[in-house]
Amino acid sequence: MNCLRCGSDLVRGLCKDATCPFSDHLQSCPVGLSDHPQFPEYENAVCVCLGVRRIALTHDIVIELDGGSGNISSNLHETPNEAIMEDADEVRDYNSAIDGMESLILACACSGVDVESTAFLEAIETALEAISNNT
Ligand SMILES: [Zn+2]
Ligand SMILES: [Zn+2]
Repeated sequence: MNCLRCGSDLVRGLCKDATCPFSDHLQSCPVGLSDHPQFPEYENAVCVCLGVRRIALTHDIVIELDGGSGNISSNLHETPNEAIMEDADEVRDYNSAIDGMESLILACACSGVDVESTAFLEAIETALEAISNNT
């Protein structure tokens, strides 16, 4: 995905070009288009991303922190069709384990743990391996 305004690459949802307003604002924020000659309607746009912190980790895990609460999503869940396990029960068990792990990651991020640190990322890998082996 590229920046809506200048086409630069996005790093963790923010534009790589430091002179572009989207380097400080998420792509969904109208402030990123303010002062743009083609979008006069955004002239006095109000920031919607202030306070929202977006963290992207391995396995497409994306955490969005908004004050004390947040959301997490990932590509880790299995669906029965494309699952490596054939047994529906195993898929269900695996997915509940992933849910638990995602909740833990989110809780850590909310309470200020550095979830982007190498140590934490290694812990995620170890947990994933354990989940895959035990189900
Ligand atoms: Zn940009
Ligand atoms: Zn903003």
